[in-house]
Amino acid sequence: MRPLSASQLIDVWERGSGLPPVRQALLLLHAACPDEPPEALAALHVGRRDARLLRLRTLTMGPRLDCEAACPACAERLEFSLQADDLGAAAAPPADTPLSLELQGYALLFRLPNSQDLMVAAGQNPHEAERQILRRCLVQAVHAGENVMLDDLPDKVLAAMSRRMAEADELADMRFDLTCPACDHAWQAPFDIVAYFWRELEEGVQRLLHEAHRLAAAYGWREADILAMSPWRRQQYLNFLST
Ligand SMILES: [Zn+2]
Repeated sequence: MRPLSASQLIDVWERGSGLPPVRQALLLLHAACPDEPPEALAALHVGRRDARLLRLRTLTMGPRLDCEAACPACAERLEFSLQADDLGAAAAPPADTPLSLELQGYALLFRLPNSQDLMVAAGQNPHEAERQILRRCLVQAVHAGENVMLDDLPDKVLAAMSRRMAEADELADMRFDLTCPACDHAWQAPFDIVAYFWRELEEGVQRLLHEAHRLAAAYGWREADILAMSPWRRQQYLNFLST
């Protein structure tokens, strides 16, 4: 994996604008890991994919993450920064072997969801999307010696399967501890690396394009040459323009 260059950031942003987050996540990873086949990246468990995205974000922008949140108790707005390490992404990723579960006489074998599953489920209502993901991840369900389809499983068994997946792939649900300075309420807030990275990418690209526009207008340089400069050098030229 290598950090994304200025022109790669713009390219990924241009191709991913308006797409579902799962596609944006894969575009980012594909740009950073060009030697890995896209199918292999789409087959990574969501947690493993998100841990890679967090690493890519650290390589590209540094380990500090500036965040905002609202206190669920008193609605106070909090601004704070996290370090990438605070998100537990160093935790060992789950094994690739299928998970098993036995409940109410049902014996299930299933795997963890990946981006391929999320892409198939994208655009459906949350209930149908979850069912679709469970259906794709179910390897086998047996009851009284007979194979059973997912739609014939009791809701309790399906809920246990979902829970088991979440427990096995902790990285798919990154969280961090927060305490509200106004009311002392403490809670665990979720961190969505795809949404965070994409929002930051959008802001970064707007800034880069504006810089390229100013330098191209002033010096007549090509966009590709301006973007190939180090941020430091670009900034020096921008400083000359403002003096
Ligand atoms: Zn509060």
